[in-house]
Amino acid sequence: MTYSGFRVIKEALTGHRGWGPAWRTPEPKSHYDYVIIGGGGHGLATAHYLASVYGQARVAVLEKGWIGGGNVGRNTTIIRSNYLLDGNEPFYEMSLKLWEGLEQDLNYNAMVSQRGILNLIHSDAQRDAFVRRGNAMMLNGADADLMSTEDILKRYPFLNVNNARFPIKGGLAQHRGGTVRHDAVAWGYARAADRRGVDIIQNCEVTGFRIENGKCLGVETSRGFVGAGKVAACVAGSSGRLMAKAGMRLPIESHVLQAFVTEGLKPVLPGVITFGAGHFYCSQSDKGGLVFGGDIDGYNSYAQRGNLPVVEDVCEGGMAIFPMLGRVRLLRMWGGIMDMSMDGSPIIDQTHIEGLYFNGGWCYGGFKATPASGMAYAHLLATGQPHEKATAYRFDRFETGRMIDEKGMGNQPNLH
Ligand SMILES: Cc1cc2nc3c(=O)[nH]c(=O)nc-3n(C[C@H](O)[C@H](O)[C@H](O)COP(=O)(O)OP(=O)(O)OC[C@H]3O[C@@H](n4cnc5c(N)ncnc54)[C@H](O)[C@@H]3O)c2cc1C
Repeated sequence: MTYSGFRVIKEALTGHRGWGPAWRTPEPKSHYDYVIIGGGGHGLATAHYLASVYGQARVAVLEKGWIGGGNVGRNTTIIRSNYLLDGNEPFYEMSLKLWEGLEQDLNYNAMVSQRGILNLIHSDAQRDAFVRRGNAMMLNGADADLMSTEDILKRYPFLNVNNARFPIKGGLAQHRGGTVRHDAVAWGYARAADRRGVDIIQNCEVTGFRIENGKCLGVETSRGFVGAGKVAACVAGSSGRLMAKAGMRLPIESHVLQAFVTEGLKPVLPGVITFGAGHFYCSQSDKGGLVFGGDIDGYNSYAQRGNLPVVEDVCEGGMAIFPMLGRVRLLRMWGGIMDMSMDGSPIIDQTHIEGLYFNGGWCYGGFKATPASGMAYAHLLATGQPHEKATAYRFDRFETGRMIDEKGMGNQPNLH
């Protein structure tokens, strides 16, 4: 069934009896050409592009829980391509372009909203760094706008630019950045992949790999063995635990990141805004809640819940730029497991085991990467070659020392 305005009106007038399930619930087959482990955004996007761009139909996505239950449904929904380094910026700009056409591609309303993102500047040194970043963005075909405090006040009149604890000296804006309804991304990719014959199998945990003579022949699962021509791991925060079953130790640590949503308010925040003197970012959802977050909890964990000191730290950051936040009630908060790589950048690569591929290390920036990650991973799986926009995301950069260290923090996963 194709979704359209006409269809919505027809169903509204006929008691909504014509809607069917958005995807099937198939039993796992004994063998597929491609088995993708993990039904998060990246796994589902990979399946969609494998089927739609590379014409592959014998594809399965194995998800241990339910699709959308991982980080794809837990993030703060921000999309942007405001990166500095050559290894990153073209990739994230490709992603932003794919977001711009996503709803037409998937025939699904993912509520892509290019409401803009503004990074606030609080010091002269920060301005220099942001000017450099803006120039790098424009060199790679992205949009960047260095905004004065006067321009910022026209859009965000409640900001106190002069008399705040950290006075605001300007901002770097990307007007094409914004937000996307996160779980709709999982559902949209799942539905589109299913329509092209991809089997999406929920409640199917991969418990091991069958590897013989250095070749991966398939995966052991909670629902039996599933054979595969190629196995593509794509499990974000569970990367270390999954790949350990193939005998691999990854340059990745797992940490918790928390998110917060307030009660619904009238429209107050027109775009995404980030604080430059601490770690705090915020947007307003279409339901009216302020959606915000900050730093990771900073210790290794596989728990999907966070700790109180970070709640205090994030709220302090918020209060420093929006004192009005102190009067709003918090409705919900939750945590997700982040796959923090040593340089803060991801890995999309073949492993040393024939037929076994890996995608992970997205840290807390993987949601915006979902379309490009899916496209690049599908390209690698189908052609055996890295996608031209993802050539830097190889395992061997940790051996050669060619880190893609966007934050300049060194090999400190807890600081990226
Ligand atoms: C609080 C928070 C805020 C964030 N904010 C942003 C943001 O604003 N912008 C941004 O770009 N990024 C953000 N991120 C990061 C982003 O959400 C992740 O990088 C991205 O979603 C990870 O990719 P994914 O969607 O494929 O992961 P997931 O949705 O976690 O998918 C992985 C899937 O693998 C499954 N799995 C694990 N082990 C197995 C197994 N053995 N067998 C089968 N399946 C398995 C899991 O159940 C899960 O569904 C945020 C993350 C969090 C937690």
